[in-house]
Amino acid sequence: MSSPLANEIEDENVVLVAYSMAVPKQRHTKSRRNKRRANIFLKSPVLTVCKKCGKPVLPHIVCLNCGYYKGVEVIDVLKKLTKKEKKAKQQEMKAQQAEGGTEKEKSLSWEGLSKR
Ligand SMILES: [Zn+2]
Repeated sequence: MSSPLANEIEDENVVLVAYSMAVPKQRHTKSRRNKRRANIFLKSPVLTVCKKCGKPVLPHIVCLNCGYYKGVEVIDVLKKLTKKEKKAKQQEMKAQQAEGGTEKEKSLSWEGLSKR
């Protein structure tokens, strides 16, 4: 009882605090543990380039930037936008079309895709 903590241990309340440690209430299964750890090793998604607008998109999925899939318009991207947003979006799309092939070639590189 020579240590400075010895006096505190005599007090009943302090004893409870000093000896209560965080203890798991229930055992977690291997399955649960493995499911948690599976997310640690997530890989970056494989991306392709949209033929219409040149933005990186997931394969077999409609491009959310321009709403096209396999050269067909599936989603009307401008429908839900306000008048101001519509104008900005249309200008952006025009600019992308004007730039053409050079932008597409650049975005194919992994460095370009990872930056976006
Ligand atoms: Zn697109």
